[in-house]
Amino acid sequence: MTARRLDGVEIARQIKDDVRARLARAAARGVRPGLGVILVGDDPASAVYVRSKTRTCEELGLFHETRHLPVSASTGDVLAAVDDYNGRPGIHGILVQLPLPRQVDTQSVLDHVAPEKDVDGFHPVNVGRLVQKRPRFVPCTPAGIMEMLARSGVEVAGRRAVVLGRSDIVGKPMALLLMHADATVTVCHSRTRDLPAVTREADILVAAIGKAGLVRGEHVKPGAVVVDVGMNRVSDPAAARDLLEPSRFAEFERKGHALVGDVHAPSVQAVAGALTPVPGGVGPLTIAQLIANTVRAAGAA
Ligand code: NAP
Repeated sequence: MTARRLDGVEIARQIKDDVRARLARAAARGVRPGLGVILVGDDPASAVYVRSKTRTCEELGLFHETRHLPVSASTGDVLAAVDDYNGRPGIHGILVQLPLPRQVDTQSVLDHVAPEKDVDGFHPVNVGRLVQKRPRFVPCTPAGIMEMLARSGVEVAGRRAVVLGRSDIVGKPMALLLMHADATVTVCHSRTRDLPAVTREADILVAAIGKAGLVRGEHVKPGAVVVDVGMNRVSDPAAARDLLEPSRFAEFERKGHALVGDVHAPSVQAVAGALTPVPGGVGPLTIAQLIANTVRAAGAA
């Protein structure tokens, strides 16, 4: 058996098509949604993520602006940038690219974003609303995954779901969304005992741990739907030979590194019923969802 590939690029395209229709209606009312980005420091991965987000704004015709602060920026500097965006009518969504440098108090910064512009869904008001099942803005990665499951015809209600990882950004909101969609949900983390026994109960398994290839065939129930959130860079040739499917060996040789998920695709392919690829799975969905949230923030839903 080879798992069905859940193509995030295709589903992101569908989400973006819906967004285009909403943008056209907003334009007719003279509204152009705008995204304000705050990037602090020179982390290359963060710069790449910000670029893909702003490129998608351009592709769809949203206004965007990036405030790039130096790596030495203080909490006060970042709060001032948030304040500025909070007060600007043309900025409907605010994105603070994480991680922030160590000297910056991340929680204070996220708490400072106006809840009605919090398109990442990290403000305590939006977290609370999600917990109470009356969401306004839902974190983009888990929201994108729910959209993908729905659009791929994956039944959630009544099924066993296991979420691997309990971060505020992915694991916790993912577990809440699956629970609200009537799955029976288990959350695993670094202290979970006998992980394979727990994950093998899952009809739907979401891996968000940041450990390259940790989820292997023996963690997966035959026929399960496996969603791989992980984004890990591998540059060691022996690790790459283990983690990559043979079709990607040439890419690795050429670049000297490759992006892999938390799922060991070669062994899981053979057991799962469906699997999201890395790259081309959850990543594009996250960006599409961010734009969808920004358009909603502008009242163009
Ligand atoms: P995180 O904040 O580091 O959280 C990782 C979680 O995994 C923690 O709850 C941790 O448990 C758990 N964990 C770590 N090692 C484990 C192990 N050996 N067994 C079981 N659980 C383990 O990470 P995150 O922000 O949620 O991100 C997770 C991954 O998703 C990363 O690779 C990240 O790059 C990727 N990501 C991708 C997207 C996307 O758009 N594709 C978006 C966001 C994140 P404890 O709580 O016990 O420490």
